[in-house]
Amino acid sequence: MTAVVGPSLDEAVTSAQTFDSLNPSNGDVVGTHAIHTKEDVDAAVARSREAAQWWGALSFDERAEYLLTWRSVITRRIAQLAEVSHRETGKPHSDAQLEIVLAIDHIAWAAKHAKKVLGQQKVKSGLLMANQASYVEYKPLGVVGVIGPWNYPVFTPCGSIAYALAAGNTVVFKPSEYTPGVGEWLAHTFTEVVGGRPVFQVVTGLGETGNALCLADIDKLAFTGSGPTGKKVMAACATNLTPVIIEAGGKDSLIVDEDADLEKAAEAALWAGMANAGQTCIGTERVYVHEKVFEPFMTEILAQAKDLRAGSDSGAKIGPITMPSQIDVIRSHVQDAVDKGATVALGGPEAIGDRFVQPTILTHVPEDSTEITEETFGPTLAVNPVKSMDEAIELTNATQYGLAGAVFSKKRGMEIARQIRSGMTSINAVTAFAGVPGLPFGGVGDSGFGRIHGPDGLKEFTYAKAITRQKFKPLMMLTAFSRDDKTDAKAMKLVTMLHGGKQTLR
Ligand code: NAD
Repeated sequence: MTAVVGPSLDEAVTSAQTFDSLNPSNGDVVGTHAIHTKEDVDAAVARSREAAQWWGALSFDERAEYLLTWRSVITRRIAQLAEVSHRETGKPHSDAQLEIVLAIDHIAWAAKHAKKVLGQQKVKSGLLMANQASYVEYKPLGVVGVIGPWNYPVFTPCGSIAYALAAGNTVVFKPSEYTPGVGEWLAHTFTEVVGGRPVFQVVTGLGETGNALCLADIDKLAFTGSGPTGKKVMAACATNLTPVIIEAGGKDSLIVDEDADLEKAAEAALWAGMANAGQTCIGTERVYVHEKVFEPFMTEILAQAKDLRAGSDSGAKIGPITMPSQIDVIRSHVQDAVDKGATVALGGPEAIGDRFVQPTILTHVPEDSTEITEETFGPTLAVNPVKSMDEAIELTNATQYGLAGAVFSKKRGMEIARQIRSGMTSINAVTAFAGVPGLPFGGVGDSGFGRIHGPDGLKEFTYAKAITRQKFKPLMMLTAFSRDDKTDAKAMKLVTMLHGGKQTLR
């Protein structure tokens, strides 16, 4: 059966120059936006480069003031932005608001910490270079292109945008074609704050507009989206040797140890698996439960899932599937699991409608089914019993992805978390790391590379600049043709004294 969910995006293009963004709950047109061409993108980047001269020359404190004003504007108009996001993604209004709350906190952190993290710092010169004073500082790259997804259309791109701006870059942002209104709202409010200067611009359109941004005269491209698109982005950026950050998909697990608080673990798994209709890169898709507590865990999660449902009415806590084509992916994963022998504990193939997918929990899902191996991006959970935590870790790591994950354990949380091959893990909670602005966010393997958020996220949008200043004449002049045998001997004596002895960690 093929899902028929209103016009596809291509059909929604009303002319050569515009496209419609649609409400995924009912197919209504939410807004009409320009399809920006290569020429439009190049022109935006050229404006951005000019604006970078002004923005990049401001002090950290001056930039922080603009960013903090923007943060206040977003906070005061949060209901308005949440409404745009609600209409474009279908997610419940309160979920849209929560996402913005997290983004606001990140904008403030980036603004307040850029000076400390990126400003000039003294570095010890070492005995060989004792006559030098050494410094490092992190300079803006210039113009940063940002390409974003639709699932968290505020939080996700702001992880790149706010940090790139705080570091002194200007930004050209290509939001997802499913959430162009959110992207425009963000850029327009920032532009208001900087008196109309094109420091943060938005270009709208489909993949082609994104491709044009990759090929434009930018200094770095921060991409968040699917792995296959990430590869195209990287290939396009290679044309001009433009560096990239890739924040791609995941297949995160939640591990439940035998001593875990089962009520809390079930509550977390249910939320991390089903919230935002499961369309969360760091959402839970797999759950590995110690066999000793598998039955009580299942009883608990099914009891908690009793009243949870997807719909567009105010009582529904789960919205529609934002991208119509994903319905077929979700259906194929669930069907593959069932065909290979999984047990349906809740929902199942019949729970997959034309726009909404009802919560689905499968157990004993074969590890070679797509429900385990590929990103499903729907409100489904594959819950499997494991004999030990070693097995849970092994299965968790047996994926090409490595984005995030969670562990529920009273005694061994840290020990287990450290063995998971992923960029982020939370213990006895889910997705907590995303709300801590000081922590880096990003993955390994097919989940991508590079980091947003925290000091690493600020440095990602800079280049390191090292400077030495000679304080006094060197005791040994090593970097001149006048260097003689006596100096060489002195240097050898010193290096033997410094490094020729027994290994010491001090
Ligand atoms: P997508 O890859 O379909 O699209 C992402 C963006 O890339 C869109 O703006 C799209 O227009 C653009 N694009 C498409 N083709 C392009 C091309 N050839 N060149 C340049 N840009 C192009 O992804 P999506 O469906 O919007 O987002 C969902 C995916 O994003 C999931 O896999 C999810 O896990 C991932 N995601 C990852 C993170 C993270 O931080 N790791 C966060 C959110 C979402």
